[in-house]
Amino acid sequence: MENQDTAVQVDRLVELIIDARNVVVFTGAGVSTESGSPDFRGPGGIWERFDPDDFTFQKFISSEETRKKQWRLMREGLITEAKPNPAHHAIAELDRLGKLDCVITQNIDNLHQKAGVADEKVFELHGNNNWIKCLGCGQRYPYQEVKKRIIDGDEIPGCQSCGGILKPEVVFFGEVLPVDALEQAAAHSRNADLFIVIGSTLVVYPAAHMPVFAVNSGASLAIINIGSTPMDQQAEVLISGKAGEVMFLVVTQLKARFAG
Ligand code: NAD
Repeated sequence: MENQDTAVQVDRLVELIIDARNVVVFTGAGVSTESGSPDFRGPGGIWERFDPDDFTFQKFISSEETRKKQWRLMREGLITEAKPNPAHHAIAELDRLGKLDCVITQNIDNLHQKAGVADEKVFELHGNNNWIKCLGCGQRYPYQEVKKRIIDGDEIPGCQSCGGILKPEVVFFGEVLPVDALEQAAAHSRNADLFIVIGSTLVVYPAAHMPVFAVNSGASLAIINIGSTPMDQQAEVLISGKAGEVMFLVVTQLKARFAG
């Protein structure tokens, strides 16, 4: 992976991290592909096998067929059962080094927390797939419990208390984002002096406003992503490479600097 340009960019990112007081890491589906979870828009992404229309809230509540497809995808466990990869571990290491203000994530896979970042430091803009909620009475079920029912043959599991529709606690198209997470993420973005984007196309809004808030407030922007984003021109550091490999290099250098 490492060419001369990448090495220079990694060095520059390490310097920026050392100088920064408030480092905000913003992640998208690309940070988790090395954990085996497909992204949406990359090659082999979820949109190559599933129709984005099936992820609208309206369709989910109005069509049994759509719910059946959703639970089939959940049963595969591609996102829910993935394990943190070197990128998640490196971000958690930034935290242990005292160099992480927070993580703002579009991901729903809980992998930042699994890698060791405290819940309070992770702002999940699109929810978390590990919980399933009844749209009728609000009863919550752990994903594993509902998955067991699907495996046992329940194609469209319903609420065991009231019979209502169960839905993963993630934001579908057409749904409002969790207000608290969004507000906190915006505040931390505006307060950042270094904003690091990892594995996002930066085309899904309002999440993609976060780097704009940060840059407009004077933060340096670093982007680690395979493929381009609309904010590449504004990045001080731009690395096209695998998140896990790049972040491993970054924290290895950082730890050496801290040790020295
Ligand atoms: P996206 O699919 O639009 O973009 C992902 C980007 O990451 C692409 O540019 C891709 O080329 C790049 N990428 C893929 N693997 C990479 C790697 N190993 N290293 C560096 N870059 C890599 O995803 P997005 O911007 O996050 O927005 C889409 C939505 O995807 C979000 O709303 C999120 O909720 C949802 N999503 C989440 C998961 C998850 O939780 N793991 C998985 C799929 C989709």
